[in-house]
Amino acid sequence: MSTLDIKNLHAVVETETGPKEILKGVNLTVNSGEKHAIMGPNGSGKSTLAYAIAGHPKYTITEGSVTLDGEDILEMSVDERARAGLFLAMQYPVEVPGISVANFLRTAKTAVTGEAPKVRTWVKDVNAAMERVKLDETFAQRSVNEGFSGGEKKRHEIVQLELLNPKFAILDETDSGLDIDALRIVSEGVNRYADQGDRGLLLITHYTRILRYITPDYVHVFVNGRIAEQGGPELAERLEAEGYDRFVNAVAN
Ligand code: ADP
Ligand code: MG
Ligand code: MG
Repeated sequence: MSTLDIKNLHAVVETETGPKEILKGVNLTVNSGEKHAIMGPNGSGKSTLAYAIAGHPKYTITEGSVTLDGEDILEMSVDERARAGLFLAMQYPVEVPGISVANFLRTAKTAVTGEAPKVRTWVKDVNAAMERVKLDETFAQRSVNEGFSGGEKKRHEIVQLELLNPKFAILDETDSGLDIDALRIVSEGVNRYADQGDRGLLLITHYTRILRYITPDYVHVFVNGRIAEQGGPELAERLEAEGYDRFVNAVAN
């Protein structure tokens, strides 16, 4: 079993008016085999949590720890974090003009495993992964994220997820901007990955609708830079009915 352990995590972002604390003591343990959903209002710091774990240079950790099987993730470079088994799908994926999807995937796979994948099986694996999310073969020749629709970006993330098959995946608003068919396709991909049994999923979302397709074992309500409440899938249903107000008000008071 693998464990991703976040303890008392504090992070600040540099702004024009000085450093601003966004994460205010996050505690969260994700074991392999578990699906966790983090839900919370806009601006509560969900993406910041994902970036902080991934090692985005904009965010400075001021307190706390993140470990993967006891290893200090925060001491690792971004590449080392990926090699250690962490995968982050961004809320706003970056465009990489001139780099094709096929090249990008191959480079990423090589970086994570330390050796280039065997050409024949690799091409087959890529095509199969693309077919599962209903991307046609010409997609592999397009520049990464350039002119991708919202749905194509998210399907491409699922292709990455399935091919890299990391120990832990952090998916930030994988559901945003998806129509109902794309949401189903993307959710099925997430479930294929997460249901292997020894993988850990941290699904960050603003809306409850993706949780109709992906049933989390644990739901965490994220408000004002920390987890305000934890529960099972029933907590998502309560959020759907009641919204975030009760939690936001509880923090404000
Ligand atoms: P969420 O993903 O929950 O919507 P974010 O993590 O994106 O929240 O943002 C949390 C808060 O941090 C917001 O108030 C946002 O404006 C602020 N923030 C994030 N990044 C920056 C930045 N680079 N400069 C200034 N403020 C930022
Ligand atoms: Mg947001
Ligand atoms: Mg966000």
